[in-house]
Amino acid sequence: MKILVLNCGSSSIKYQVFAMEDESVLAKGVVERIGIDGSFLEHKAIISGKETKVEQDVPHHNKGVSLVFDILQDPEFGVLESIEDLKAVGHRVAHGGEAFPRSTPVGEQELEKIKDLSRLAPLHNPHNAAGIQVVRELLPRVPQVAVFDTSFHQSMPEKAYIYPLPYEFYEEMGVRRYGFHGTSHKYVAQLAAREMGQSLDDLKIITAHLGNGASITAIDRGQSIDTSMGFTPLEGLVMGTRCGDIDPAIVPFLQKNKGWDAEKIENVLNKESGLLGISGISNDSRDIEEAAESGHDRAQVAVDIFCYRVKKYIGSYAAAMGGIDAIVFTAGIGENSDIVRSQSLQGLEFLGIEIDQEKNKVRRKMAEISSAGSRVKVFIVPTNEELVIARDTHELVNGPS
Ligand code: AMP
Repeated sequence: MKILVLNCGSSSIKYQVFAMEDESVLAKGVVERIGIDGSFLEHKAIISGKETKVEQDVPHHNKGVSLVFDILQDPEFGVLESIEDLKAVGHRVAHGGEAFPRSTPVGEQELEKIKDLSRLAPLHNPHNAAGIQVVRELLPRVPQVAVFDTSFHQSMPEKAYIYPLPYEFYEEMGVRRYGFHGTSHKYVAQLAAREMGQSLDDLKIITAHLGNGASITAIDRGQSIDTSMGFTPLEGLVMGTRCGDIDPAIVPFLQKNKGWDAEKIENVLNKESGLLGISGISNDSRDIEEAAESGHDRAQVAVDIFCYRVKKYIGSYAAAMGGIDAIVFTAGIGENSDIVRSQSLQGLEFLGIEIDQEKNKVRRKMAEISSAGSRVKVFIVPTNEELVIARDTHELVNGPS
């Protein structure tokens, strides 16, 4: 059974085709610069290894999805005889609010709800919904499934998701903590439990998804009980260009002292802060680590703040769960940076966490990096959000395998 996974952003569409018999990827690619000059599609057929780049005007998502369908049936680069070979399409959807505690098949009602949730995720949900709508028009008989970044965290208790603000903000506007990266946190926790030969239901795990966006989650017996991102993906850890936790009083302070409006402040906190803002050189942790090693002071401060905050969250989640059995690092920085892993865990021996510096040198592959005597297991687990979307889609279309 072949499943297409789509991740529709504001100006891009990422896609992968899976053969669910062995969960292999048949093709993957991206349409970039939708609605902007210079749009193109980059595509790779995995088995043949054939790659192509198609430069073409893509004024809207409709055209983008059509291009993807064309290349998937192309005699040279395609992986499908006919687009009808697709038995389902799974979509990554940013925000499911409280309406979607799990992945769901998408009919008219669900699509309307996803659109309605655009008020909570104005930069993402409208494009996710547009992708669903286009596929409905082009392939009306193919079932579609939405998989939400927020669903996994719907198990958080009130004490973790209610902000200490007037309660009406929650009741009237849905201002609460939702959390994101849910598919990734769930996936890597499941793999770590399997590696430990134990059921997720018996374990207390902290998963650190450290990429350009970063979040950390406390998973108590399979349930997310707290996570660092909140109402939006701006809360929590230091990120590439996002500030994470700051004193909210800084916002009115900037308004008064700089004369900035809401849009300007939002832009600074989302796009000019984090590793980029502190270091002044880059949002990419590779550049920062290199610069820090060659003596760039602010790059070193950026690494130190990033790791210090990861460490503080680990401590607080250990307290929230009353212990930890495993810590999992994933995503670009978590999978690659031995410096960040090592520095974030330094000094946590009192919690039974010790890593083996030799084992920690590994990159981008599943590995246990804790020392033999460490009571808490520490893992690197490469994340695979597309596979989770394909699996959920398969299960919702076919029933559990
Ligand atoms: P993601 O958002 O998961 O794609 O992760 C992007 C982040 O991973 C960027 O900050 C990259 O610099 C970082 N990253 C990727 N490869 C490495 C590496 N080899 N060492 C350190 N950071 C890396």
